[in-house]
Amino acid sequence: MASPGLALTDRIRARIREIPDFPRPGINFMDITPLLADGELFGEVIDALAAAAGPDIDLVVGIESRGFIFGAALAYRLRCGFVPVRKPGKLPFRTHRVDYTLEYGTDGLEAHEDAIAPGMRVVLVDDVLATGGTAAATAQLVTRFGGELVAALFVLELGFLRGRERLAGGPPVHSLIRYD
Ligand code: AMP
Repeated sequence: MASPGLALTDRIRARIREIPDFPRPGINFMDITPLLADGELFGEVIDALAAAAGPDIDLVVGIESRGFIFGAALAYRLRCGFVPVRKPGKLPFRTHRVDYTLEYGTDGLEAHEDAIAPGMRVVLVDDVLATGGTAAATAQLVTRFGGELVAALFVLELGFLRGRERLAGGPPVHSLIRYD
């Protein structure tokens, strides 16, 4: 399925399927499953995220749920640990929690209370940077542990939603492709 010749960004774009009005009217859902199904491309995406992460990473923090897919593969590639950040009530042990505002109402995110030791060098990973609320809350959680957040990594960024601005003052933000 590989198409050598084309730039990585073009090949990623070609494997993102846009689904209008999913899961709700007005949302243009960016479906990354065609990318995952292309083994060569999936590997190159993980390599590109690893390059953006830089050296000496102790932990990859993956955001539920598609952040687990990219995050676990990235942790394997970097030979570092993986921490799942999950919706409330999913993790079995004691947790730290952050709450954040959504368009309507609030939501929370949790990590196990022993997941990150102070001073650990951490990258956070998700598939899509949209409004940035989820990533900003995760960044806050990492900081609460005393972790050093060295980068926030995304496969794709919906630039028009200005999520990058919500992360301003936080870690450097890297996205492999951007939709404006
Ligand atoms: P946000 O907090 O608005 O940046 O939203 C980020 C989270 O919602 C990520 O975990 C994404 O997987 C998901 N998400 C938001 N918008 C979309 C979209 N248009 N297509 C696919 N996933 C999205």
